[in-house]
Amino acid sequence: MLSESYHHILERMHAACEACGRDPQSVRLLLATKTVQPDVLRNVHALGARLFGENRVQEALPKWEALGDLDVEWHFIGHLQTNKVRDALSFATCIQSVDRPSLITALQQEASKRNITVNVMVEVNTSGEASKAGCDPSDVGSILAALSLAPNLCVVGFMTIGANTDDEATVRACFALLRTLRDTAIASGSAPATAVELSMGMSGDLEWAIAEGSTMVRVGSAVFGSRP
Ligand SMILES: *Cc1c(COP(=O)(O)O)cnc(C)c1O
Repeated sequence: MLSESYHHILERMHAACEACGRDPQSVRLLLATKTVQPDVLRNVHALGARLFGENRVQEALPKWEALGDLDVEWHFIGHLQTNKVRDALSFATCIQSVDRPSLITALQQEASKRNITVNVMVEVNTSGEASKAGCDPSDVGSILAALSLAPNLCVVGFMTIGANTDDEATVRACFALLRTLRDTAIASGSAPATAVELSMGMSGDLEWAIAEGSTMVRVGSAVFGSRP
């Protein structure tokens, strides 16, 4: 069951790459592991999964500890409160949800204290939906400016959640906007040339995200089943 759903996602990713002439190696699968128990994560690791994304620090820490013997790259993909930064940097090597200057200050401070470099992505609210996290597209420049002054933070790309609709044009416009923001930021020098990651696409819309240039899809329910 887990094996089938995991391999089905890999097949969907592969087919989506073929359909738009992209190299299947150019898109990574991050499993969104909120509410999923460590024994299940161990099983999906045995199938080949190596990249996990957690939304809540309190939930992530015990899982990360329980799976400490596995070679897994942990990302943080949820809203991050500044008072949780210390714990988040205990397990996550990439914070995908950087969306405001106060968070950059807190991350830089903690990364400096630990003498580590932390990968970050700028999360953008590309749909305009009030319920969604992420900075306004017009704030990307100022967020990148703040990041350029944070020597322990390395901008590796951009993250978004597509609009909550099954209208293809609407959802793809969100993903295309993130790609344009990335391309503009790199061309203008406000983001490093290496900030190429586009973390976009989930269980319901990964094909559209891959068609728009996604380099990392974040998938939960299509692999683990619907959440409680
Ligand atoms: C839960 C979650 C996902 C995965 O969503 P599914 O629809 O279950 O695939 C992706 N990104 C973020 C930020 C999430 O919180």
